Amino acid sequence: MSGAGFGRRDMLKASAALGGLAGLSACATVPAARLTVFGRRASGKPWIAPMRMNVEEIVDVKCCIRPFRPKGPCLDAVPLGDTLVIHNYGHGGSGWSLSWGSAEIAVTKALSVLPREIAVIGCGIIGLTTAVVAQRAGLKVTIYARELFNRTRSVRANGSWTPDSRIALTDPAGPGFGDVWEQMARISWKAFRSYLGLPGKPVDFSDQYNLSNEPIVRREHPADPAVADSYATKGLPQQDSEFGHYADRIKDIIPQARNLEEGENPFPTKFARTASQMHFNFGSYGHLLMQEFYEAGGHYEMRDFHSPADFKALREKVVINCTGYAARELVRDNTIIPVRGQTGWLIPQPEAHYGFRYNDVSVLSKSDGVMIMNFPPNAGELYGVNDSTEIPDRADIEDGVRKVAPLFADPMWRA
Ligand SMILES: Cc1cc2nc3c(=O)[nH]c(=O)nc-3n(C[C@H](O)[C@H](O)[C@H](O)COP(=O)(O)OP(=O)(O)OC[C@H]3O[C@@H](n4cnc5c(N)ncnc54)[C@H](O)[C@@H]3O)c2cc1C
Repeated sequence: MSGAGFGRRDMLKASAALGGLAGLSACATVPAARLTVFGRRASGKPWIAPMRMNVEEIVDVKCCIRPFRPKGPCLDAVPLGDTLVIHNYGHGGSGWSLSWGSAEIAVTKALSVLPREIAVIGCGIIGLTTAVVAQRAGLKVTIYARELFNRTRSVRANGSWTPDSRIALTDPAGPGFGDVWEQMARISWKAFRSYLGLPGKPVDFSDQYNLSNEPIVRREHPADPAVADSYATKGLPQQDSEFGHYADRIKDIIPQARNLEEGENPFPTKFARTASQMHFNFGSYGHLLMQEFYEAGGHYEMRDFHSPADFKALREKVVINCTGYAARELVRDNTIIPVRGQTGWLIPQPEAHYGFRYNDVSVLSKSDGVMIMNFPPNAGELYGVNDSTEIPDRADIEDGVRKVAPLFADPMWRA
């Protein structure tokens, strides 16, 4: 087995460390931690549970496409005969994060024609939150979709608070998009807070560590003047600098990252940077949203739509279209660019409640399982762009597990 196990001996050491916490924190060789430290190893390092990184414990590999729209999500309201269609699709790598705010904008547009009932097409994270927001506004809602939540692309994602991940390209989105993005992000952040601290932890926070043996610097995205082409000339982004970043607009409410000082880093790497990050546990969160939808009188009907003309056949005369990447074909929106990504899942390790990035691999321990994403060296925003292959690649996830396993094989974990 590769990776360090967490046995009875470690637990005894940890509890011994807990008992001696007061004395140790006063020790001259260990700087006072600004993190919550539950104990220290004999070496003085803060105690944290190691993760088991074994390819034998991979239980799933899920592949998915981010519905990326260079202009940002489509929220247009379009009359179609006597039906008003409001779009709510194209959230790139930020659909989970922006769902509530985007739903609020779409439902507000629906309310402008004073409907009593509406149809929501799609039951991914965007459709489901849109349906719940509409119900909270007093509307009767039917969700029509090919698949219920548990089978949608949404549950093949990572599920972290990443509100400006591949959400738009700066130029096509234009200067006004920042305000719309900020509105979506702030509404969503507030909405998620009401799901914290519930049984099953539908929404949770954990510490995320960026680990390296080289000094960690904030990644900048300067334009490379040698790259002459751009989205404008090629119809596809050509370099990272074209992607819009808006996170600084909500710095006042989001925990910010900071470098750990010596004596604060629980890992065997020379450098570590950390921040608290919100994440979503698909099982309990999806279950809770579906329950809320049904308890508020919602109906679900399995149905396949082949063109917007099919919307006109619905009883409801206000339709919110939340079909994600499938909108490219359904409403012929060729501006949607597929951005492939995949996640691997190890069995849950609740004792290790954190995530990290090391050696170009992202790992996040959630109640659903330990999520792994493997990236090529220096992969940026262009990774996966224009790739619509949805075939899972287990070898890539195994490679990711092997890339981070040495971190937990370090003798430090047994000291
Ligand atoms: C690898 C990866 C990691 C990601 N990580 C994150 C993350 O950490 N944080 C984050 O915020 N976002 C993340 N995302 C992005 C996020 O997953 C998407 O933005 C989001 O899932 C889009 O949701 P959706 O509801 O629009 O689409 P979908 O989940 O695809 O749902 C579409 C719904 O529409 C229905 N439908 C489609 N076409 C039709 C039709 N013709 N007729 C009837 N029904 C139809 C489907 O059945 C489904 O119910 C990630 C994406 C990927 C690929």
